[in-house]
Amino acid sequence: MANGVDGSLRISQLDANQLDQELLSLVRTQFHRIFPYSQTPLLTRLDPEITALIKFVIWRFSVFATGASIGQQILKLKYVSTRRRENNSPWMSRKQKLLHGFILIVLPWLKERFNITVDGLGFSGSNTQLKVNKYIEWAEKMLKFAALVNFAIFLQTGVYSSLTERFLGIRPMFPQRQSIRQVSFEFMTRELLWHAFSEFLFFLLPLVNFRRLKSTMSSYFLPQSRQPPTLPHMRTDTDLTMCAVCNQWPNNAHEIGCSHVFCYYCVMSNFMADPRFECPACHKDIPNEFLIRPVKTELNRR
Ligand SMILES: [Zn+2]
Ligand SMILES: [Zn+2]
Repeated sequence: MANGVDGSLRISQLDANQLDQELLSLVRTQFHRIFPYSQTPLLTRLDPEITALIKFVIWRFSVFATGASIGQQILKLKYVSTRRRENNSPWMSRKQKLLHGFILIVLPWLKERFNITVDGLGFSGSNTQLKVNKYIEWAEKMLKFAALVNFAIFLQTGVYSSLTERFLGIRPMFPQRQSIRQVSFEFMTRELLWHAFSEFLFFLLPLVNFRRLKSTMSSYFLPQSRQPPTLPHMRTDTDLTMCAVCNQWPNNAHEIGCSHVFCYYCVMSNFMADPRFECPACHKDIPNEFLIRPVKTELNRR
């Protein structure tokens, strides 16, 4: 990369943007989780304000306070002003910070609030409103196109990953120049190996039937532990209240001919994945699907 020496890598800049977005959605989710049972109309109506507030708090303590967004801080980047300032400070000026906040928080909020109000008040029918909407739509399209062009230029030059940065004249850089390229190759190789290994596991693990493997192994190594399957009339209270597969309260309890009880989902999914599935507790097998029946309790039987 040509500008990797004095500037910052494109990939770091994009990663930082990604981290910022993730952070915002994470905080938003956390916030909405505070009110799990009260998604009131008020909260829904105030959603643009809530988002703006969260953005403001994050912005206040990241860009405004330190001159770098959270994602940039994690990647040790910091905004540098590309325009010359009077006091020759390389960092963002106060004006740039405030403008950054305005573009980041207020503009999206205005847009969202305006959209909601327009829909809510039923203005969309009036002529002027239609015209205004058309202009906004057109402006948005132009902006999107400009953003696309900007991004293409960014890929070429590595400066200004967004229109906001180009407009404000700021770009993220590594404040300490030398510290960035010090990642040792040993570390990177290890990281790559682990990554490849975990990818491999993600591919392999779903193909292995662990229940089957476990029962085969235990029958191979501990043959004497195998006892004949228990029978339904030997059923205890614990058997009735616990699924033999997931050890939870059996949901839509079914049985397969032994004393144990299963959630319908547990027994059916296991049986469909592996027709040789047997009861994990007593190794009763299921010769055919019709043996999986709803549990008849003593009450039902009478
Ligand atoms: Zn279960
Ligand atoms: Zn059983």
